[in-house]
Amino acid sequence: MAGSELKADLWITEYMTPWDIYAHGATEILAFQKTAFQEMYIVQSGSYGKGLILDGKWQSSTEDEFLYHEALVHPAMIAHQAPKKVLILGGGEGATSREVLRWNTVETVKMVDIDGEVVEACKQHLPEMHAGAFDDPRHEVVIGDALDILDNSSQTWDIVISDLSDPIEEGPSFKLFTKEFYEKVNRVLAPDGKFVLQAGPVASPYIAIHARLVNTLKTVFRDNVSYTTFVPTYGEPWSLTLSSHTPIDTRPEPAEIDRLLQEKTTGGLSLIDGTTYLGLLQTPAYVRRAIAQHQEIYTLSEPPKFFGKGVTAQNQS
Ligand code: SAM
Repeated sequence: MAGSELKADLWITEYMTPWDIYAHGATEILAFQKTAFQEMYIVQSGSYGKGLILDGKWQSSTEDEFLYHEALVHPAMIAHQAPKKVLILGGGEGATSREVLRWNTVETVKMVDIDGEVVEACKQHLPEMHAGAFDDPRHEVVIGDALDILDNSSQTWDIVISDLSDPIEEGPSFKLFTKEFYEKVNRVLAPDGKFVLQAGPVASPYIAIHARLVNTLKTVFRDNVSYTTFVPTYGEPWSLTLSSHTPIDTRPEPAEIDRLLQEKTTGGLSLIDGTTYLGLLQTPAYVRRAIAQHQEIYTLSEPPKFFGKGVTAQNQS
């Protein structure tokens, strides 16, 4: 059929469930490493610019990562109104740091990533993502396990952002989606601090996991708002959860938020403004129903286990 020939023979195939895959065609492998923690690819994709893949899971691409990183960072910053100290757990390619550094109230950003090889490769191959964030004098990168850093941190933080890879069984992050981990986060969070979590997909095969993550957060934090963004390269709606001990206003006046962003950020946002922020905070009914239904929580003895690794392969056509 005319116009239907595929153009790639290199495919990044993400295993979403035992019955579903999502494949992105790539034209070039820019970097490949088996690090001490994970398998990393950085590729030039056919449709979405450059992409970072860890353990076969698509992390982000230059074409649509703003839909994830703006949604991850700005709701917590807006809810706080004047954050100065921000801790990022994970954050590999530096786009989360880039978004945090847009705020002129921010004095210190610490990014803790377990994998220095991933960070170095992203510095080199993904300047569009970090946009110089690693060179900002306010920014510090610590290579280490987020779990250990929280145990030994004496600092308190206005914002903690969990920007970690999905908790796949053999990955380095599944212990960080548990009650015990959120209690560690709470220990370093300022009394009016905000915690935001990359909380996985809310497509039907995964909605119960998301619901359990929210219920796990509820055992630690007073107010928890689940919200959803859509990032085409993830192939499904993606959730985030904003948590706080002080009430989160889910009905803000958009014009007020626009004024706040105008006054306290360098601007340049493509997803978030007052209207988008108001919309994001309205948790969809099917997600609220799932949170009410799936009450079991995650602990170190019962952590979440996302379905496994994908593969990168050249079609032998
Ligand atoms: N910003 C990314 C995106 O656009 O999807 C989110 C993923 S980011 C690449 C995930 C990072 O979490 C990786 O760089 C990985 O090395 C890091 N990570 C995984 N487990 C970790 C742990 N236990 N402590 C610190 N960092 C961890």
